[in-house]
Amino acid sequence: MDGLHEDVNRIKKKPIVQTLDYKNQPDEDFSSQNWTNYLKRNNSIIIDLFAGQYKSKVTCPTCKIISITFDPFLYISLPIPHIININFQFYFIYRDPVIPPQKIRITLPSNETASKFIKRLADITRIKEEFLLIAMIKEHKIIEYPNDNNIISYLDKHDGIAFIFEVFNEKFDNPLNPEEKTLHVEINVNQKSRKEKYYDNSVSFTRIFKFPLNGTLMDVHLKIYQYFRNFLKNFYGSLDPETQKEYNISLENKEDDFIKSEFEDLFLKTKNLSPPYELSLFSETNKKQLLDYSTQKLITLIENNQTERELFFEINLNFNSFIKIEIMKLNKCQEANFEEKTPNETKFCNLQNCLDQFTKEEVLDRNNAWFCSNCKKHQEATKKIEIYKAPDLLILHLKRFKSSGGNFYMGSGTSKITKFVDFPLEGLNLNNYILGKTEDMIYDLYAVSNHYGGLSGGHYTAYCQNFFDKTWFEFNDSNVSEVGKNKIVSDAAYVLFYRRRREITEENLSNSFRESRKIE
Ligand SMILES: [Zn+2]
Repeated sequence: MDGLHEDVNRIKKKPIVQTLDYKNQPDEDFSSQNWTNYLKRNNSIIIDLFAGQYKSKVTCPTCKIISITFDPFLYISLPIPHIININFQFYFIYRDPVIPPQKIRITLPSNETASKFIKRLADITRIKEEFLLIAMIKEHKIIEYPNDNNIISYLDKHDGIAFIFEVFNEKFDNPLNPEEKTLHVEINVNQKSRKEKYYDNSVSFTRIFKFPLNGTLMDVHLKIYQYFRNFLKNFYGSLDPETQKEYNISLENKEDDFIKSEFEDLFLKTKNLSPPYELSLFSETNKKQLLDYSTQKLITLIENNQTERELFFEINLNFNSFIKIEIMKLNKCQEANFEEKTPNETKFCNLQNCLDQFTKEEVLDRNNAWFCSNCKKHQEATKKIEIYKAPDLLILHLKRFKSSGGNFYMGSGTSKITKFVDFPLEGLNLNNYILGKTEDMIYDLYAVSNHYGGLSGGHYTAYCQNFFDKTWFEFNDSNVSEVGKNKIVSDAAYVLFYRRRREITEENLSNSFRESRKIE
């Protein structure tokens, strides 16, 4: 279309036109300023008939700055809503330390959002959604917390592996006061190296808990002991029978008071020993700070510069170098089956579904991040494209082949979507999709380009309607034959040609008639 237009462009010498900056102008003004600019360089019969205008709006997730642009189009490429199922693997970490990490594979639609995935897991496990959290872990460390809108294919292709944590459980944690802020605590599990004094090795994946903010350092010690005593028991169980007797940990009892006296008996009172690990806090300003078993309030350790949103601690649990990590079975996991019924791909969709998909707000992932001129860095912004201005002759291209961008073509290799897309022959109503419309936008179909076969050995045919008697014809290489109306909509339809419905005036008719004579 661009080539056709350039061939008949009435503007032979294109003036230099400045790009317009968005300064919160009303859509109507900014649209027409951009359109006038466009017409200074582009003016042809193709533009007159086929050109329209998109409005795209990008919002920065951090500074919330909005960028709006108006760009011309000669045809619209519509995505076909298409589910690709992914066999997704993740780990599920129960708050109860006795239940090993569950290694799970589940079939999910590639475009399912993280928030929907959490809802699904909440339904399966009957754990409240707000107590489940996804973290991406690589080499035992958290490298990212995905946001609600990140989709399964994003998690699946991520550098890290998805871990879903149950961060709170009434059986182990004191009830949280909804009025009160909670502390998000990451517990890194390290082992001190024998040789290098200052180097701690990650030996197990980071655990995540929620602590009440009014807790004390003692509470932290006990909470961590309560979680890890199961693993310590494994370790003590491997020692000689005499020592085993001394370090008797009974997993039956999970009461807070019991845990407290067990901890104090084992490590503080009678044996006058310390736990085989130390807890330390690592922060940029304080560097490494050991956490004592004391009644000091947690809140006193929060740095002033931590905002409410970032109220979190990174606590390091450093096992002494004599501990045999394998014996503790910190990383022992269990294959589990969360299989549900596989989401079924619907066989049909219609043009409206495609238009909805097209105008749907999307969150740009890291690979397609947008450069925010305010934050001066790339951001995973939200983007929404809509049709602002539509032409009299509207060309709709159905994206049946894998496209580079977009979230819906994550399947490997190049494939063709052969899904049946229903579209109306008459009366396509685009009133809801054209933002800047001033009158009814009703369209009738006058031609279809079909594609058969695959990517390499395909074949094109066309259906076209005679303007005067409304008869449809099939154009297939050198053969032209009349075709029934009921044949026009098929799963081969690739490009749709719509004409805007106008009053048929004497003048319009005679013009069209003259054009038609010329072709003959
Ligand atoms: Zn920004």
